[in-house]
Amino acid sequence: MKSSASKFLSLLLALLLLPLPSLAGTVVTSFYPIWLLALNLTAGAPDLQVRNLAAPDTGCLHDYQLQTGDMKTLAEADLFLVNGAGMESYLDLVYDAFPALPVAAASDGIPLLYGLDALEIGEAEEDEEEANAHLWLSAANAARMAENLAAALEAQFPANAPLIQENLAALTQRLSTLDAELKEGLSELPHRQIITFHEAFPYFAAAYDLEVVAVVNREPGETLTPAQLAQLVEVIQDLGLPPLFVEPQYEDLSARTLAAETGTKVYTLDPVVTGPEEDVPLDYYETIMRQNMATLQEALGE
Ligand SMILES: [Zn+2]
Repeated sequence: MKSSASKFLSLLLALLLLPLPSLAGTVVTSFYPIWLLALNLTAGAPDLQVRNLAAPDTGCLHDYQLQTGDMKTLAEADLFLVNGAGMESYLDLVYDAFPALPVAAASDGIPLLYGLDALEIGEAEEDEEEANAHLWLSAANAARMAENLAAALEAQFPANAPLIQENLAALTQRLSTLDAELKEGLSELPHRQIITFHEAFPYFAAAYDLEVVAVVNREPGETLTPAQLAQLVEVIQDLGLPPLFVEPQYEDLSARTLAAETGTKVYTLDPVVTGPEEDVPLDYYETIMRQNMATLQEALGE
């Protein structure tokens, strides 16, 4: 009797000493592409809530300042998932305000591109010395980013690890299919040169054999000066009228003006930094990337 009571006590003690599994948690993501990945990885985990910091129409975070509401959201977070590579320029503030909050960067360990091997018009959003942060636009990179995020989620929420692993495996498979499709669909186009507004596509171009010959750097809503427009008209003509690609969230008046002046065409390429906020299809990234492929096939075909 005495011995079974002491066995019970030691068992109880052992149970108390075990680390408690996290049963529920709040994951906060910095912006749309990271949110999409996190939604995929946590699908089917009702005890994990994923909240996105920047509104889905924000776009890239290049000049994003943390809002009061963001600080409140972060105060409730168990894990903060970011892009890294300089996209979240406010990170030091987060480290200072929430020293205990685990922060995981999706870009960890992925080779980064520095500077731009293209003619630039307008002032760059990103410093030449800094990495280009738009790495999710290669599907192979997106898969590696998902792996990094999954590792952070599993470490923070070990009870959900098997589900996260399963979700990661399915997502990796889909992204690898997408990557192969993009390679196949874009590899043999008769033209390869593009001009983009916003420096979002170097990883895409490197992965899928395109050449970004010029980038028009512009803050959202900002128009080009007459001098910049004139310079660009000359560049477009010198390059043999490559198509112009604007992004859905950017005002494209300058591009339309340029098209009218030079006779080149304007298309939309979507860097997947914006999208629906409610009922987001989990394959939204793939859908948009396939749309981008179709656009490029049309623009760079015959
Ligand atoms: Zn950007």
